[in-house]
Amino acid sequence: MLETIRRIVQEVTAAENLEQALETIVTRVKQVIDCNVCSIYLGIQGGDYYLLMATRGLNPEAVGRARLERNEGLVGLVAQRAEPVNLEDAHSHPRYKFLPDIGEEAFHGFLGVPIIHHRKILGVLVVQQRENRRFDENEETLLVTLAAQLSGAIALAEASGSLRDIQGDNGERAIHGLPGAPGVSIGQAVIVYPAADLDAVPRRRCRNIDEEIRVFTKAVEAVREEVRQHREQLAHLPTEERALFDAYLMMLQSNSLIQKTIDRIKQGFMASTALRDTVQEQTQLFASMDDDYLAERVLDIRDLARRILVRIQSKTPGTRHYPPRTILVGDELTAADLMAVPRKQLAGVLSRQGSGSSHVAILARALGIPAVMGASELPGNDIEGLELVLDGYQGWVYLHAGQRILSEYRRLMREEAQLSANLQALCQKPAKTLDGCIVPLYINSGLLSDIGAAANSGADGIGLYRTEFPFMIRDRFPGEEEQCQIYRQILQAFAPRPVTLRTLDIGGDKTLPYFPIREDNPFLGWRGIRVSLDHPDIFATQIRAMLRANAGLNNLQILLPMISTLNEVDEALAIIERARKELASDGYGELPCPRTGVMIEVPSAVYQAAAIARRVDFLSIGTNDLTQYLLAVDRNNPNVAELYDSLHPAVIHAVYQTTRAAHRQNIPVSTCGEMAGDPLASLLLLGMGMDSLSMSVVALPRVKWVIRSFTRAQATALLDEVLRLEDPATIRALLGSELDRAGLGSLIRPGK
Ligand code: PEP
Ligand code: MG
Repeated sequence: MLETIRRIVQEVTAAENLEQALETIVTRVKQVIDCNVCSIYLGIQGGDYYLLMATRGLNPEAVGRARLERNEGLVGLVAQRAEPVNLEDAHSHPRYKFLPDIGEEAFHGFLGVPIIHHRKILGVLVVQQRENRRFDENEETLLVTLAAQLSGAIALAEASGSLRDIQGDNGERAIHGLPGAPGVSIGQAVIVYPAADLDAVPRRRCRNIDEEIRVFTKAVEAVREEVRQHREQLAHLPTEERALFDAYLMMLQSNSLIQKTIDRIKQGFMASTALRDTVQEQTQLFASMDDDYLAERVLDIRDLARRILVRIQSKTPGTRHYPPRTILVGDELTAADLMAVPRKQLAGVLSRQGSGSSHVAILARALGIPAVMGASELPGNDIEGLELVLDGYQGWVYLHAGQRILSEYRRLMREEAQLSANLQALCQKPAKTLDGCIVPLYINSGLLSDIGAAANSGADGIGLYRTEFPFMIRDRFPGEEEQCQIYRQILQAFAPRPVTLRTLDIGGDKTLPYFPIREDNPFLGWRGIRVSLDHPDIFATQIRAMLRANAGLNNLQILLPMISTLNEVDEALAIIERARKELASDGYGELPCPRTGVMIEVPSAVYQAAAIARRVDFLSIGTNDLTQYLLAVDRNNPNVAELYDSLHPAVIHAVYQTTRAAHRQNIPVSTCGEMAGDPLASLLLLGMGMDSLSMSVVALPRVKWVIRSFTRAQATALLDEVLRLEDPATIRALLGSELDRAGLGSLIRPGK
């Protein structure tokens, strides 16, 4: 049964549009359950009514017409209860509603199950039987399992706009993701897809058909040669075993795979798009045959196609053309993807995976680029080149936006530009509260290219330089000299202002292409200081580079990430000291001893903050990870993103407790997580007596405006009130109303 379910889900996922997906479901489910009818009703207008969208067994003419209101009929009952309804004789149930012309009167046995996606009832899947029949438990659980597995594919197909004609709207689609980086933007979608992933290939048209055909035929020829070689290498095997290679060679000449792809290229598509479409067509054809042998052939076709794709991709010139307002779209975008787009042309970032706390979102914020994350319902690859409207404040994306949306967002963009211009005026003013307290504001960075902008932003220094970013865009570990030059440029650009270089924090969602770490729970695994201490070679090289870069400047601070035990602090400090001594004996002279700090981003470090504080010169609170570990919510997982909230009382108390621990040991404490750049939260951090805050260049003037609009005494009183609250939403509302009252509402919503 598992295999049948898997196959049905595969077929539905491969469907080109919603109609085809629903047709596949009703046809296949009716076969598997062996009943007389299978139908799907989908909720329209947020579930106001349910419309028959596909059927096998009822009157096909009723599709798109027969409808039941939310509180009508058995379909309405299933949706209302959000659970299965299984009836031996539907006619005798008080909720049974007779619909003329649908042809239902002949059927008595009824089983309906809800189709639920992320708590939302998308519709109802129904099977019916002419005779009285109570569907047995196996049938019921099978239908429930199928509905659960199909809900994602249905949501995806729905989002691609296939409901458009039936609903009769103008095709405008709004998809909700998660706020990634603030700002609004209108631009053109450019899809970034992983190499050699056939399903991720976007629908792209080509400029030169002959060139595409040449690339494709060359790729096919190369794969054919590869298969021939494999066959020869295995010449000692029995003939049957080698038959597979003959089958492969036949497929590589077949009309169905090769000629059809060429035909598609001739219609103006790129070789990769044409190949993808041909393979999808073949997959559907074979999968619908319900024959295990043929189903296996699907795997062969896909395997061959993937090999051809690798060749096509390696022939495709590496430099891509990016439109002037590029919105980068991908499943899992990386820092390197963002950096490949010329800075002035990057207008937005849209990712199906991840959340506002993912590192790509953090990078987008640092660059001041609006981003929407976790937009899992974004349709496949056919949105390449489409104009998108992105709202990074609310996490909305609009496809096929109409004039109303476009003009509203153009107005917001103008107002945003105006707000930034106004905030620029604050640049050279100090971050001083109305009662005269100065809170130094630092920059979070990780790119060399934005150091110039950061140095002129009025920042008091760098509070967090994520050294892993330069590691991520290379193809091997950078050496001591190479690192030294990078660090030197940063230290020099800011001297005498302090620059906090964090030691390598790879693992989690920051992997290096040349040092893959594969783990089931990467955020709980080999990450940050754990990797550094296990690889003293890599760690010591980095420390030596930092110390050398600091020569004659003496504005370096070293920050240790992911500390969860005191031993790690002691070991890291010992390596730093040893590196300093070794450099002296290597002829670099007596280099200054940098101030060293620890990131408090793991719950154990909060409880041991005092002991850590006794060992180092400062603490820096990493609220991004602290929130994830305290609340047990993966910062990258869009399914639980709504639970990820740095204004959760537990996080606020932990940050406060850490601040007090540092102060009791007479060392300064800073916040360098995204909380510091959030205008709402910055008020609380001010109230806690945080010694400095570190944030993106874009957030800095916003937070400066907050600090300059309140007294510290007001912030402390507000903190006292917040510490008594139990619910993040109430805390958010209270802080929001404080900002509104002070005339700073534009900091938390789009527009002026
Ligand atoms: C943090 O965890 O808050 C932090 C600043 O580090 P990163 O986001 O790089 O994990
Ligand atoms: Mg962190």
